[in-house]
Amino acid sequence: MVNGTAGVLATALDYTRLGRAELGERIRERKRALNAVVLGHNYQRGEIQDVSDFVGDSLGLSQAAADTAADVIVFCGVHFMAETAKILSPGKQVLMPDLRAGCPMADFVTGAALRRLKTELPDAVVVTYVNSTAEVKAESDICCTSSNAVRVVESIPAERTVLFVPDRNLARYVQERTGRRNLVAWDGYCYVHDDRVLEELEQAKRAHPGALVVVHPEARKELLDRADAVTSTAGMVEYAEEHDEVIFGTERGLVDRMKQRFPHKTFVALSGAAVCGNMKLNTLAKLAWCLDHGRHEVVLPEDVRVRAERSLRAMLELSGGWTAPADEESALELAAVRPGGCGCA
Ligand code: SF4
Repeated sequence: MVNGTAGVLATALDYTRLGRAELGERIRERKRALNAVVLGHNYQRGEIQDVSDFVGDSLGLSQAAADTAADVIVFCGVHFMAETAKILSPGKQVLMPDLRAGCPMADFVTGAALRRLKTELPDAVVVTYVNSTAEVKAESDICCTSSNAVRVVESIPAERTVLFVPDRNLARYVQERTGRRNLVAWDGYCYVHDDRVLEELEQAKRAHPGALVVVHPEARKELLDRADAVTSTAGMVEYAEEHDEVIFGTERGLVDRMKQRFPHKTFVALSGAAVCGNMKLNTLAKLAWCLDHGRHEVVLPEDVRVRAERSLRAMLELSGGWTAPADEESALELAAVRPGGCGCA
């Protein structure tokens, strides 16, 4: 049982032995005691989303948490996402249930490696996908999401070289959409979206001949070329609202959630293997432990945070800056029933 203080608890409790209801009650109690909000990314397990105050993508979640009066933010996602929350909420404590939950795509590029390439391309404008570390954002001129990447690149004068970091697939998609030749792509990718699942696509189409195919721009060109639509995670939610039979090329956690929301529709995951194991490192037991012990805290050097915030705000300025949305609009966006952001990010 909780000791009655909001501080660290000295327990030798085996959280894995607690049932879902008991863990849920403990989490709710600790959220109240700590004045904490729990953010559950779209790709989190259902039981984590059920106890989350907000569900959505990393940027939308980080903005929502910044707009609350909470003292503590618990981010159930991967490491760069918790960093984004910290960038936008420097005065709040940001916690993660499992520090090992990193993003292999974000880890394709480090601040040091980016600094080296910048010395070779001194005139390039660095456009960084939000699925990146704070250190890399701090080295960037402007961030982008999968929703706005085309618009961000179009905003850069045509004569300037664009260095696009870290997703090569999103970079290629942007290059095709903008016709921009002077774009240099970092060679990173997301292992969940980069699978060449053409055979699975043909099987799914045979099984569901009337279904439309929607694919995330982090996927390979061969898949994008066969899709009826290419869009971000938030865009996929809109697509799910508008169509009755869809094959989704993205992380299957989102597909499962759409099936729950629209049980009368036919939604199919393009690949059963499209599961982000990093995201799934977070569990209800770890979330309860995290709230009980005030760990693991995500901290950033202030100079890195400030420079990273600058590149994020440069992107937000393109769409008129970031102001707190009206309550109703915010709730719709965060429930992912209105497009508001990016892909996994
Ligand atoms: S789905 Fe891909 S981009 Fe998102 S956290 Fe997992 S590895 Fe990173």
